[in-house]
Amino acid sequence: MAADSDDGAASAPEASDGCINKCPKSGDELIQVPVVDVQSDNFKEMWPSLLLAIKTASFVAVDTELSGLGDRKSLLNQCIEERYKAVCHAARTRSILSLGLACFKLQPDKGEHSYLVQVFNLTLLCMEEYVIEPKSVQFLVQHGFNFNRQYAQGIPYHKGNDKGNESQSQSVRTLFLEIIRARRPLVLHNGLIDLVFLYQNFYAHLPESLGTFTADLCEMFPSGIYDTKYAAEFHARFTASYLEYAFRKCERENGKQRAGGNPHLTLEFCSYPSSMRAHIDYRCCMTPATHRPHPTSICDNFSAYGWCPMGPQCPRSHDIDLIIDTDEAVIEDKRRRRRRREKRRRALLSLPGTQTSGEAEDGPPTKQVHGDLKAEEIDQKVAEVDKKDQPGSDQDHKNDLEKELKATRYETTDMATSEVPGGQASLNPVPGDGLHRAGFDAFMTGYVMAYVGVIQGPQSCSSEPWLPECHNKVYLSGKAVPLTVAKSQFSRSSKAHNQKMKLAWGSS
Ligand SMILES: [Zn+2]
Repeated sequence: MAADSDDGAASAPEASDGCINKCPKSGDELIQVPVVDVQSDNFKEMWPSLLLAIKTASFVAVDTELSGLGDRKSLLNQCIEERYKAVCHAARTRSILSLGLACFKLQPDKGEHSYLVQVFNLTLLCMEEYVIEPKSVQFLVQHGFNFNRQYAQGIPYHKGNDKGNESQSQSVRTLFLEIIRARRPLVLHNGLIDLVFLYQNFYAHLPESLGTFTADLCEMFPSGIYDTKYAAEFHARFTASYLEYAFRKCERENGKQRAGGNPHLTLEFCSYPSSMRAHIDYRCCMTPATHRPHPTSICDNFSAYGWCPMGPQCPRSHDIDLIIDTDEAVIEDKRRRRRRREKRRRALLSLPGTQTSGEAEDGPPTKQVHGDLKAEEIDQKVAEVDKKDQPGSDQDHKNDLEKELKATRYETTDMATSEVPGGQASLNPVPGDGLHRAGFDAFMTGYVMAYVGVIQGPQSCSSEPWLPECHNKVYLSGKAVPLTVAKSQFSRSSKAHNQKMKLAWGSS
């Protein structure tokens, strides 16, 4: 309860101040992340703070909670164009239930990687008919989603193209336009589905082709789109890349960086006035160490994909720290083996008659061989020995084809409700992640990208985009290459989009 208790006497600020006293939150202490709940009864009141947070942000992280996704198989079509069509179909027929925004503002005076973070969770209500899948309802309810509140307090919005001049209204669609106007990097996790839904629900009717869609996105977000799943998997090379894993991994690495006196991420949150407290949920970032279960076997499913069909009933551990500990031990083990292999290699090389050259220690072995063992043969021999003490597969990356799809969050209900044989007590308390999940997920997403910024080091030149290796690369499940957000010379932007852009830049 650190973040909210230290200035209870704060006076009510101007709404547009967005925040008053900031309390630095770093170190290994429990971080409390304030998530501001925005719904129809405080939307107008929060509007100025929302706009200020967006306009002053260095980047904005976004997450959505959806009413469903429809057919899972077509969403994973090997043909990306087909996959796009399937997501478009989902976006036209389904709706966004909540929108999470995390605005990260660099504070250069406080350190190279110091950010002020503001997190919002907007509860929405689509005013047109939409499909909501029973599975989704079931899952959401089980995870604390409050449909009563959504219907009573959801901020209404309509999909597709604008109806008349909406740009002056205080609506979620205008808010989305403000994110575009801010011209800041947009950060998402496994972002294709989010992008398609955001476009259809808050912007305009989706274009027919993927090429047009990416051309539009390019203009909408000139500072780039970033995907933390791509960054975690292909850039940071984490063992797994689902959001909770990537976040916790970054958090732990950041702690090490800090302890070692190296560049690290520092976050500050606003201290909100007591009048706003009713709308703020303080989410705890770290799993307290006391919650760690006793040494127990880890659930393979959860470890690899971040979900498990048994949910909280699973007798095996879903503890993310335990999972990361195990993964790190595996990596360390591999490293040790590699070292051992190198030693053996040297030993073999130094055997009389196997010397490859006079300077075997330096540089790669030359082709010229004196003894009866060639360099490659030595390599092979070492590899053979090495294989023997390497149990199991050589799976460096946990493969997460379809299961990573956010859609599967909903699918978990299938078996989660089934009986657990023997009535084993759960070792995994249900995480309190139901409420404001889009907001907190957006926060975790932003955190991962900010941390990637730390390991990337200082930007080489200012004309370059932020984190060039992750710039405009959107993760594609089951693909080794990301979707590149670019405007090709063959694809033109869409008509609806061009009108929106006129509106966005014309009236700002
Ligand atoms: Zn499990």
